[in-house]
Amino acid sequence: MDTQTQFRGLSNELVSKSRLENGSNILTPPKKTPVWRLFLEKFKDPIIRILLIALILSFLVACYQYFTGIESGNVFLEPAGILLAVLLATGVGFLFERSANKKFDILNQINDETAVRVIRNARVVEVGRQDIVVGDIILLETGDEVPADATLLDAVSLQINESSLTGEPSIGKTTNPSQFDKDSTYPSNEVLRGTTVIDGHAVAEVIRVGDATEYGKVYTGSQIENQVETPLNKQLKRLSKLITYASYLVATLIIVGRLIMYFSLHEAPLDWLQLGGFLLNTLMIAVTVIVVTVPEGLPMSVTLSLALSMKRMLSANNLVRKMHACETMGACTVICTDKTGTLTQNQMTVYETVFYALGDIPEKKLELKADDLSRIIKENIAVNTTAFLEKTDPMHLKVLGNPTEGALLLWLNAQGEHYEIIRSSAKMVEQLTFSTERKYMATVVDSFLHPGKRLLFVKGAPEIVLSLCKEIIVDGKEVPAEEYSAHIDQQLADYQAKAMRTLGFAYAEIDKDQEISCFENGQLRKNLPLKYLGIVAISDPVRSDVPEAIQSCLDAGIDIKIVTGDTPGTATEIARQIKLWKEEYTEENRITGPEFGLLSEEELEERVLKLKIISRARPMDKERLVKALQRKGQVVAVTGDGTNDAPALNAAQVGLSMGDGTSVAKEASDITILDNSFTSINRAVMWGRSLYQNVQRFILFQMTINVAACLTVLIGAFLGSESPLTVTQMLWVNLIMDTFAAMALASLPPNEEVMKDKPRKEKEHIIQPTMTRRILSVGFLFVVVLFGLMQYFKYEDISSLKDFDWNLFVQDFFRFSKDGHGFSLYEKSLFFTFFVMFQFWNMFNAKAYKTHGSAFKGIKDCLDGFVLVGLLIVVGQIIIVNYGGQMFSVAPLSLSDWIIITLVSSLVLWIGEIIRFLTPKKSKTI
Ligand code: ATP
Repeated sequence: MDTQTQFRGLSNELVSKSRLENGSNILTPPKKTPVWRLFLEKFKDPIIRILLIALILSFLVACYQYFTGIESGNVFLEPAGILLAVLLATGVGFLFERSANKKFDILNQINDETAVRVIRNARVVEVGRQDIVVGDIILLETGDEVPADATLLDAVSLQINESSLTGEPSIGKTTNPSQFDKDSTYPSNEVLRGTTVIDGHAVAEVIRVGDATEYGKVYTGSQIENQVETPLNKQLKRLSKLITYASYLVATLIIVGRLIMYFSLHEAPLDWLQLGGFLLNTLMIAVTVIVVTVPEGLPMSVTLSLALSMKRMLSANNLVRKMHACETMGACTVICTDKTGTLTQNQMTVYETVFYALGDIPEKKLELKADDLSRIIKENIAVNTTAFLEKTDPMHLKVLGNPTEGALLLWLNAQGEHYEIIRSSAKMVEQLTFSTERKYMATVVDSFLHPGKRLLFVKGAPEIVLSLCKEIIVDGKEVPAEEYSAHIDQQLADYQAKAMRTLGFAYAEIDKDQEISCFENGQLRKNLPLKYLGIVAISDPVRSDVPEAIQSCLDAGIDIKIVTGDTPGTATEIARQIKLWKEEYTEENRITGPEFGLLSEEELEERVLKLKIISRARPMDKERLVKALQRKGQVVAVTGDGTNDAPALNAAQVGLSMGDGTSVAKEASDITILDNSFTSINRAVMWGRSLYQNVQRFILFQMTINVAACLTVLIGAFLGSESPLTVTQMLWVNLIMDTFAAMALASLPPNEEVMKDKPRKEKEHIIQPTMTRRILSVGFLFVVVLFGLMQYFKYEDISSLKDFDWNLFVQDFFRFSKDGHGFSLYEKSLFFTFFVMFQFWNMFNAKAYKTHGSAFKGIKDCLDGFVLVGLLIVVGQIIIVNYGGQMFSVAPLSLSDWIIITLVSSLVLWIGEIIRFLTPKKSKTI
């Protein structure tokens, strides 16, 4: 395919003109559900419905009391308070979801910026997918996703996966009318947007873009799966259910308790109106306990954490495609990684060429002479390739396509040769592109440099190319391959010990008259008269940040395995450079792909955990490795960039595709590592683990309040005292814990320290025993203090906390006589504020859960999350207490009261700090 001269493509003016006439290649997102409807959907929540019923009941009672003249207009304050709570709960939840969804939308847009190779102004350039216009000449290669509908101008062994449109996983496409398939849904010379190239390559002219494409007609929107239930979500749902049932039980107990108390305190004859009012109040308290206890915030905290993580992970070069991947990455125990690009820079440079054919030795710099063999080598490099060089500026050439082939083109360029001229002048007859399975590439051309000759060029893994050759050309003379192979092996070993990637070159002269293909079943035919020309060593240095990232993963208890198509020598040297390969490792710890294939299932089971390197691996080896590791109970993350890596990416718990990988690999993966670097994978683990911890913190916080709120109201019910927390107060508490705390704790930044722990067990329950202990102990402590206050307010009258009498407090604690009285508004205000401030300080303890140190550590990094929400809670409480009046059953508190409450309640945090300080580092779970 002589793309450069045959096709000139559009000029810049024509591109603009076409865009004006035919539109750009962007799919219009489907109409979004209107905002008001999304808001109304919030009212489908059963808890909100229960609240609405409570609201109606309370409103009816208020109407009755007002119109019969029993009460003043103030009775409407309670229903108004409930209405406010309902609106706040639905409103804040709604805003959260919207902001999370917006983040997902941004991620989808990034998905749309995939680079496409086009010919414009007679040059091959890369543009974003949305920039393609009708009339553009696009170049397609194995693994590419077709960016727009296009008619083929030229195609080599083109196979397309059309399953996104027709369900057809592999369909041949061609420009040859005699091979057109009349029964196919779409013309055989058309490729369609959204389908992928699974083999071969092509040049095509765009005929439809954006919504006009076949794919555009069926497009239904967002590709990022944010609806899928993650394993953690499922676990949390079960937990929510359990808590919900428990809350029903507590609510029933409250009703029973209050009824018993009512009848034991009130003697016949009954005042029916009073009983009615009492019943209604009881019902409302029971309903509110349910509302407070049911952890609506739990799933929201996960979604919020995931949305935040996804956005922040993007700035750390991780494009999360499937939401669950964020958290699963945190549980990962093994990472199977590629070598090229992930561990190395993928900056390939020809280090040395050793063309025996030219009598070459490594020390002597090659000069391409004008003789036949030199020409054959030049043509092999220029023609037997799918890469291009783009002149980004007069001094700089950028490689488009395969980096190995690009390095060879750059080398040729440095020898003063123009690959474009050689390539466009030779006439291509057939081609087998490079694949990791074959490990070589072959092209048959009618030679330009040797007019009248048909030549077969082969380049690939040296030992494979050598095995295809009968002869080696040494200094212009043909010698039997066996005679020279030991020498070649030694030379290869030397390069590999320097972590070089090596390539072998060969060629054959083909009889033009015999119209037989050189290929058979996707391989070179046997017994072709191939002659070995020599080898090229290409350097690709290790990324400087990788050794540290590897160490961090190893410290985090994550095993790393390199799965590479390269040789054992090169792979081991790279592993050594990144400090993965230790001196004590033996042959037990590494294996080649073919050897791996021969292992029985039992042998594999026995050896799989020990393996550190699989070299000369084929994609199916990767999949087998992943499955074997999973059988061993490992949580596996695997990297992949090629089309054939898709099965392994699918099989692993987390598939990681590379930013410059094929669309097929990206589609099959859960996360795309945009900068290809292992450091970003390491970051993803840190994010995943931090996310899990944040959810644990939220549960810790929420469950402690649950225990405190339920037991306090329950005890209140059985003691016959007034409910210490009123309905509207409890709704505020609910807002604090379900919404604000979810926001505060879910947004805590990731913590490097999580990388010092071992991976969590996959089946581990999110509520750890240490958490249960803490929920119960702190929860009961709250209950004891709050109960003490309840008793104190019941038997004493207090108008300032300064008058608080500690002795009376202790005495009243155990006093169970009938002479108690109801709470004044002021006392209710004190109780309510104590309750809220306890939770406020406890939120800091929750923040410090599992961190090695104070709750204030790193507080600077969460000013816009945790700290802001904390402030919001305190300010909200001050406003409610000062202005809530009858609606919240409160009376303003004096400054001294505020100071006393703040200091006393903060003991919760200080005790926590002391315990954290005294606990040895290793067992830090407080
Ligand atoms: P990894 O799987 O870690 O990315 P890799 O890139 O070295 O490793 P492959 O791309 O499968 O693995 O390459 C395997 C071997 O095939 C290389 O060592 C090299 O000898 C040969 N090879 C690589 N690229 C080409 C190419 N474009 N044409 C011909 N041979 C190639």
